[in-house]
Amino acid sequence: MRLDITRKCNVLCSRWESRRDTLIGFCGQKESHTCRLGLEVKVGSGEEGYSCIVDSFESNVIGSYARVVIVNPLHEKLPRLVISTSVTCNSFDATWVQGQWDWMKCEWDKHCRAQVGPIIGHASDGDSRRRKLMLSDYCSKFGTRWKLEWESWMLSGCVASSGDVYGLGDQDHPHNGKKLVNPLDKSTYPLVLGDHHACLEHVHLTSPTVLEDVGGPDRRPSRAYNGYQALSGDSS
Ligand SMILES: [Zn+2]
Repeated sequence: MRLDITRKCNVLCSRWESRRDTLIGFCGQKESHTCRLGLEVKVGSGEEGYSCIVDSFESNVIGSYARVVIVNPLHEKLPRLVISTSVTCNSFDATWVQGQWDWMKCEWDKHCRAQVGPIIGHASDGDSRRRKLMLSDYCSKFGTRWKLEWESWMLSGCVASSGDVYGLGDQDHPHNGKKLVNPLDKSTYPLVLGDHHACLEHVHLTSPTVLEDVGGPDRRPSRAYNGYQALSGDSS
């Protein structure tokens, strides 16, 4: 069985968690800030509790985004499952993400791999930090490599001693397609491809062919194509 993991962000705010009497929603100390997951501040009662609340808001960065880790089993009979939610200020870098990926893989191998299967890689909606790591994995020459038997195909995954393939990143192609198309919805914003300029009409002409051939784990080419049609103003 193969697995995949994604993250998403949405706007949130800090608040008091009554059951544990803690403040949640902070991403770590403002001074020399490093994003910290799962930070909880015990409040307490009386004057001491009040001071704790004031100090916490003064000294911590508020995490205004949510980070969600979703296990996506690549099997039609297994549903996707959220295994972790946390707040973040979204200022972390690719090195921080790599540390998280390494930690998650280690924990997954320890607790879940035997029953569910190995993690084969990570997914994202087009975030540049994850894209950087995915390209680094795909272009690595380290160890035994696995790749598609396709002439001129350059990307490859890593084969572990157990036989598991790892480092197969996946970006949300409808999401990235919309990022590509939206700026083109102005005649003054052409897409420069080498010596050529593309406009919205070029993307529209190629999308039926490309999107019929490309599908993610849930096979959504027709929905993606409908999105392109709507963006290009042709809903017929
Ligand atoms: Zn942060």
